[in-house]
Order: sequence, then structure tokens, then C-alpha cells
Amino acid sequence: MQYNSTRNSGISISSAEAIKKGLSEDGGLFVPKSFPSISLSELQKFADMSYQERAFEILSKFLTDFTPEELKTCIEKAYTKEKFETENIAPVYKLNDTEYILELWHGPTCAFKDMALQILPHFLTTSMKKTKETGEVVILVATSGDTGKAALEGFKDVEGTRIVVFYPDDSVSEIQKLQMITQTGDNVCVSAVSGNFDDAQNGVKKIFTDEGYKNLLAGNNFKLSSANSINWGRLAPQIVYYFSAYSDMLEAGEITLGEKINIVVPTGNFGNILAAYYAYKMGLPVNKFICASNRNNILTDFIKTGVYDRNRDFHTTISPSMDILISSNLERLLYDLSGKDENLVSGFMKELSEKGKYTVTEDIKNKISELFYADFADDDETLEEIGSCFSEYGYVPDTHSAVALSVYNKYLKETNDTQKTVIASTASPFKFNQSVLIALKGCAFVAGKDEFTLLSELSEISGMDIPKSLAELKNKTKIFDTVCEKDNMVQVVNDFLQIG
Ligand SMILES: *Cc1c(COP(=O)(O)O)cnc(C)c1O
Repeated sequence: MQYNSTRNSGISISSAEAIKKGLSEDGGLFVPKSFPSISLSELQKFADMSYQERAFEILSKFLTDFTPEELKTCIEKAYTKEKFETENIAPVYKLNDTEYILELWHGPTCAFKDMALQILPHFLTTSMKKTKETGEVVILVATSGDTGKAALEGFKDVEGTRIVVFYPDDSVSEIQKLQMITQTGDNVCVSAVSGNFDDAQNGVKKIFTDEGYKNLLAGNNFKLSSANSINWGRLAPQIVYYFSAYSDMLEAGEITLGEKINIVVPTGNFGNILAAYYAYKMGLPVNKFICASNRNNILTDFIKTGVYDRNRDFHTTISPSMDILISSNLERLLYDLSGKDENLVSGFMKELSEKGKYTVTEDIKNKISELFYADFADDDETLEEIGSCFSEYGYVPDTHSAVALSVYNKYLKETNDTQKTVIASTASPFKFNQSVLIALKGCAFVAGKDEFTLLSELSEISGMDIPKSLAELKNKTKIFDTVCEKDNMVQVVNDFLQIG
């Protein structure tokens, strides 16, 4: 399987090259030249397989330049029972006769980013070897919370890699901060930056675009790389769990082979829902994709009107991982739906960067409305959904998953479509315990309580165990308690790498 860029169909590179590069030089994203197919009889066979075996079947169709041994090693290192606290890795919970919750948050950081970031480091080091790169990869991450910790857990102690994570001093939650500053591993470095997320991100971007600095690193046998969600190595593993959910439902007799399902995804960067669409391209029987947003509802408007317009206010919500105004992975969908029209896609992206806005063709708009439904839920609706889901089913969703459930209910009301539906659940309720407890018990209940008290309260009310990785935070040593000025970020990297 070869890969081309969404802005240049003439490029043709291997998956190892695509994973190593991350982004194409023309600014486009790497996409597979064609979609391998999974037949219904193969899907039937998945029913008896473990998650790891399903992952191997699917990923081997994309990473064709990896040997079976290489791929198996990556999968075995990533998806272990110890790391995911469950044999199933991505279990499906039946809420009622139509709604099935795909729990993607059993990994070490309690959010769905683990599904991809546990395996990406192994893809990356394997890709480096395969393309005869010597030297160590240095991963730089600016994070507003979830991604930083998931990347740290993924890369820690992976041979041939180092990772440096910067987070804004003033805007991550207490749990998120604790998760990062207690990070262990011989190859990790974490630093707060005095300022907000933009300061941290701009600092990282500056380091990435500094040619002189790149040369200094190269002279010391280091190569910069990023772990962000446009890397093909992060997207491919996400295709697996949609097939896995379908196979689980098949095995449990909840659906018959070939029966179409709906898929609801709480969306930010459009990565997770795009992976579902790719699964459909490969043959997964899907009726509708339901794209759920919070008050940052740029995708709702886009799917309804065909106009993508980022000239709007940014809202901080209780589902912060979806507070995004540029959904980078949408470019891959546009490339596919336009019949690989690189000029059209390049034009849209140019308009987006120059005017903050573009309008797709009537043809693309129609294709999108055939397959996608979109709506959003604001914070009040999200809290209400957490409460009603718990009182009706005794199940507690986190704020992101509640956005998905709320939007699904709107879809149900509007369409009366009772087809079986998979709802992607992207975080553990414990990770957003404050909002979840406000939904269940009101504001007064949480006032003045520390994070660990909140975790215990939520465990008692929900009857769920506190995830081990969060419970352990209480007794962990704080390793990284420095705050750097935004102009000093490069010094932090230099000190860590002992260069400069
Ligand atoms: C990242 C994230 C999302 C959004 O996923 P995308 O792939 O960016 O659309 C949703 N929920 C949680 C908890 C996340 O961490």
C-alpha cells in the first residue's frame, strides 16, 4: 500500500515514510491510495478473534511494508491487559436495545487517545529502522491536557525516543497536571509554561520551524517529530475498534451479519469519526455517521450547509477535548469525497488559511448529507444527559460521551430511525469527575472538595471502580515542578538533551 498527499496525488510513499514524516511537505495529509476491503465472511471470522488479532488483520492491509513480525510486536506492546485494565481493550456496553456504548477509555490515561498513542511510538521506531534512519526521535508536544499525558504514557521508555511535553501553567485541570508532573520514564521531560495554551503551542511551533535548530539537533543525532492526530500512524489504529465493536455485537447475537449500524462520535479534530468512515469504505455496514459537537459547533454548521467558517467565537466548555475550531482531519474526507481532487482540496485549505472560510461544491455537500447527520449539545444539555442516562440506566458517561448521547437523542427524535447504534465513548467519567458530579448531585455537592475526594464520591455513586492510574496519583512523587518562561522553552529541551 502506497500513500499520497491530499494536496498532491503524485506523491507515492510507503507507510513507514508516511508515519515518519507525519505531514506532507506540501502541507497535505497522507492518505492510502486505495481502501482495502474486508468481506462479510472476514467480518464473521473476526467474531472469534481477540482485539489484538483483529488489529493485526486490519492494520496489515494498510502497513504492507511492515513484516508480520514487526506488526505483531507493535500490537503486542501496545494493547496489553495490564495497560488497558480489560481483556477486551475496547469493550462494548449495551445500554438498551438500540444503543451500544463503545468504551475507548480503558487505557492508561483514561481517554480514547490511548487507543492510538499506545501504538504510535512502536510504529514510529519501526518506521525509523525500516527507512534506515539512525539517531533518536525527539517528540515535542504542546498540550491543553489530554494529549500530553497520553503521549507521555505511549513514549515512556520506548527505545530510540525522547519526549518533551509543555503544558500551560494556568489552564489544565488539577488531575491533568498531577498526571503529567508525576510521569515516570527515563526518556521523558515535562515542563509548565507560564502563559496559556497558545503560548505553549507557539513556542513548540517556533522550535519546529527553526532550521538552524534542526541542524544543531541533527549534529547531535536527534530528529524532531510530533505525535499529533494528523499522523497516519494515529489514524490507522482507530479504524480497528469500529470493526471490533461490530464483531462483538455479531458474536453476542445483537446484530446479524451485514446489518447496518449507525455510529455516533463526539468530534473535535474529526480524526475519530474519519476512522469510522474509513472502516465503512473498507466494507463495515454503516447507515449513518452522527457527528456530535459541543457549543463549538463549526462541524454541525458545515455538515448542514457546506460552509466551513471559523470566523466565530471560541467557547470554553465542560467537554474541553472538543473545543476546536479547525478540524484538521476533515481535509482527508474532502479529498475522498471529491474523487481525489487535489486542486479543489488545496483551494479550500488556502481559503481557510486566508479567509478562515470555504464552501464545498454542491456535489460534496450532497454526498456528506447522504452519510452524515450532525448536531450539537451545549453544556446544560450535556449535564442533563449525564443525569438522565444515570437515572434511566445506572450508567455514567463522561462529558464528551454525553455530548454524543444527547445528539443521538436529537437524531432519534428527528428521524425515528431505530437501527442499532454504536456510540463512541471517549473518556472515563472519572477524568472529568467535577462536571459529572455536578450533573449528578449539583454544584453545592462538589464545592470545596479536592480531586481525590471527588474520585471516591463518584465511585460510590456510580458503583464503578476508580481507574488504577488515577487512584495511584495521590501517592506519586512530583518529579517535574518547574515552570519556564515562554521564551525559554528551547533551553528546557537543550538541558534535557544535554546539547546547546
Ligand atoms: C480528542 C478527544 C475527542 C475528539 O476526538 P477527535 O478525533 O479530535 O475528533 C473527543 N473526546 C475526548 C475525550 C478526546 O480526548
